[in-house]
Amino acid sequence: MYYNKFKHLLSVVFILTCLMGNLYASPLKVVAITEDFASIATSIGGDKIEVKSLVKGSRNLHDINPKPSMVMMVRKADLLIRLGMDQDSWIDGLIQVARNNKIFFGKNGYLDCSHEIKKLEIPTTNIDGNMGDVHKSGNPHYWLNPNNGKIIAKEIRDRLIILDPKNEQFYSKNYTSFARKIDIKLNEWQKRMAPYKDFQIVTYHKVWPYFFDVFELHAIGELEPLPGIPPTSRHLMSLETMLKKTNSHKLVLSASFYPRQVGESFSKKIDAKYASVPINVGSLGIKSYIGLFDYLVEEITK
Ligand SMILES: [Zn+2]
Repeated sequence: MYYNKFKHLLSVVFILTCLMGNLYASPLKVVAITEDFASIATSIGGDKIEVKSLVKGSRNLHDINPKPSMVMMVRKADLLIRLGMDQDSWIDGLIQVARNNKIFFGKNGYLDCSHEIKKLEIPTTNIDGNMGDVHKSGNPHYWLNPNNGKIIAKEIRDRLIILDPKNEQFYSKNYTSFARKIDIKLNEWQKRMAPYKDFQIVTYHKVWPYFFDVFELHAIGELEPLPGIPPTSRHLMSLETMLKKTNSHKLVLSASFYPRQVGESFSKKIDAKYASVPINVGSLGIKSYIGLFDYLVEEITK
């Protein structure tokens, strides 16, 4: 009987040790602004982290309303990953309300991924209200260049190593294989996109400069007369006149959260190809950052 009791005690101790071991190894809680950043974080952190994203799928990041569920996520986070460039100021509000000391500005749990990005379209003149909803610190849609995806991944790797140094090798190895995968895929994507270098391309909003940069494409105008201002018939007419003067191939490209019909009817008028596509992971079955470019290249070139 004593023996049985002893055995019982041993198994209790065993179970407790397991539980405590699990607690010790519980994954870091990472909260990212979008599923793009979440996907990159998952590539680096694997099962050592638990990742959530504040915004699901493809949304206009200029137009997000914070929700109570987002506050709860930020409150529990060990690491908060944001876009930066003054285009996600709603996250400042979340940080204030969540009162989580780990992710305050300047703490190790606060990561603005834009620091090392070579920023495009930084305004050179003073901005006033007549210029529309300008990207005042430069164009913030930087995740749309896969090379920037590697920069984001490196930032995340470095931060995870600071927060969880015992898994440094794991994070470094994952970064190396992620970066290598991007390099291989980028080569393939660039080959497929090459014929589009000669296209005249009209976009809805200036979402695409980083994408155009990496694939050497040329935007010749936007359907929006000014950033954030919906197309007017007067503006569309002058675009149409300009485009009809040339007989090179044309493409109208729009992020799918903008009204589909406007781009579609305009593309018919100028005899252009039309693509309305999501620009974030999480929409239309796009499951990963690399999958996003697979999708975009497929849709544009089909
Ligand atoms: Zn924008």
